[in-house]
Amino acid sequence: MIAAVFPHSLPFTVRGSPRAPILAVAALALAASCSGGPADRTDLVLGTVCSVRVLDGGSEEALDAAFARLREIEASMSANAEGTVVSAINAAAGASPVAAPADVRYVAGKALWYAALSRGAFDPTIGPVVKLWNIGLPGERVPSPEEIRAALPLVAYGAVRIDDAAGTVFLPREGMLLDLGAIAKGYAADEVARVLLSKRVKAAVIDLGGNVKVVGRKPDGSKWRVGIQNPFDSRGEHIGIATLEGGSTVVTSGVYERYFTGADGRHYHHILDTRTGYPVVNGLVSVTVISSSSVDADGLSTTLFALGLEEGMALAESLEHVEAVFIDERRRVYVSSGAKGVFKLGDSSFTQAELP
Ligand code: ADP
Ligand code: MG
Repeated sequence: MIAAVFPHSLPFTVRGSPRAPILAVAALALAASCSGGPADRTDLVLGTVCSVRVLDGGSEEALDAAFARLREIEASMSANAEGTVVSAINAAAGASPVAAPADVRYVAGKALWYAALSRGAFDPTIGPVVKLWNIGLPGERVPSPEEIRAALPLVAYGAVRIDDAAGTVFLPREGMLLDLGAIAKGYAADEVARVLLSKRVKAAVIDLGGNVKVVGRKPDGSKWRVGIQNPFDSRGEHIGIATLEGGSTVVTSGVYERYFTGADGRHYHHILDTRTGYPVVNGLVSVTVISSSSVDADGLSTTLFALGLEEGMALAESLEHVEAVFIDERRRVYVSSGAKGVFKLGDSSFTQAELP
């Protein structure tokens, strides 16, 4: 998990530790039974540890609705599971358009927007290359150059056809695969926030595997404080804290999120260079985006990472209501001009640096 929220940090949301959340669910079901006060729930959804912590206005009903929506999103947008809308779109590539509900078309449309904005550095049709690597899944491996060469021509976001009138998505070439993994969790965080507010929740922290959104006003009236993960430390340590209004989201993409060590001893992480088919190597270890829309922050954090420091920072600076924190492998931290007001570096083993 990437971010901890202070002072109410969530000790049980340890990424990659599936046992802890199960204990937490049992313990917290009791805490949530009394309506109106605090309530928590943690579960594995969307391939990660998802937790919702309500500080004010909590109820079992609100948590049930939040997790039901998460499961719905997983059941339509996962590319790894069978029977999802995305897997049906992929199975029909080169053959026919597939009926897709409005939310799938919306998220796919957002992904195509970030693809265009980055001229393909972000590309949701990266699926055939992702599948070769299988990073974080059984069968992860370094593909052969021939396999990569064969898959790359299928990475072509410009070919995707979203037809809102017909309610369909079409991948025109056989073998194309849509992968919304870089953006679906952000959409899910926005949706959980919407569902909680509709269930009269007044203050909550949503943490979907480190994709964090804070909702409403804290009961004590103070601002929300969200930690930004130390990319060199898998124990959930943070390098600093962002102080934020309700409705804000903090989303990080980094090399530590999912990676494996190949037979050659090298680390291979999960953000892929759409030109080469290999993991992006540009000196960055993580990019955090602070914004109000989590679907945009998730799409952007991956986009900025893929673009690299100079181009990524220029894009972040050009966008309204978007702030970014870039960390490179030499522990230098670069923040966008607006982030200087909200993010405070707290770890002296990192240095804040400026772009020339
Ligand atoms: P996380 O899932 O850890 O939050 P990201 O949001 O950065 O991380 O998404 C990474 C995922 O996006 C990968 O696991 C893969 O499914 C997909 N992906 C990898 N490279 C790209 C890319 N260049 N453009 C779009 N999606 C990508
Ligand atoms: Mg992302």
